[in-house]
Amino acid sequence: MEQYIPDIYAKSVYDIDYDNLVNRGIKCVLFDLDNTLLPPTTKEVSKKLIDFIKQTKKTNIRFIIYSNSLKKRVSEIANRLDLEYFYFVRKPHRGKIDQIVKKYEYNQSEMAIIGDQLLTDVLFGNKLGITTILVNPLSVHDRFFTRFNRRREKKIYKKLYQNNLLVKGKYYE
Ligand SMILES: [Mg+2]
Repeated sequence: MEQYIPDIYAKSVYDIDYDNLVNRGIKCVLFDLDNTLLPPTTKEVSKKLIDFIKQTKKTNIRFIIYSNSLKKRVSEIANRLDLEYFYFVRKPHRGKIDQIVKKYEYNQSEMAIIGDQLLTDVLFGNKLGITTILVNPLSVHDRFFTRFNRRREKKIYKKLYQNNLLVKGKYYE
């Protein structure tokens, strides 16, 4: 069960203390896209999100969109947010992480992933040994494959809850 427990749990990307991440030694943050930055049903980027990205970039953390979605959607949104991106990365598999590590030479303790799914984002991060940050999904809508994961995720949440390991809505850093 440990592989599903995030290091940090926040309500949303807006509720994370990024200065605290800097203090923890984090230099690179991977953002999940769907239901973390935007609901999967839209590609409209709000002013709130644009301003937020601009603000958080001032921490000097390198933010990268790291998404299982396809190129068109990921690139369009990333370009609007002026963020580097990797698409179709197949979390929880290693996917394209080696490209990032090779390019920037980060070690595990300098990287974090922020995402809304235990079975992709959190599992991926914990397998790699990077800091994992769970946020609540932005909407109840999910992409086709995610719907299967959510059913499994529900059972995992239940087990984690029963063992007092992770409680929905009980945030921590
Ligand atoms: Mg997601």
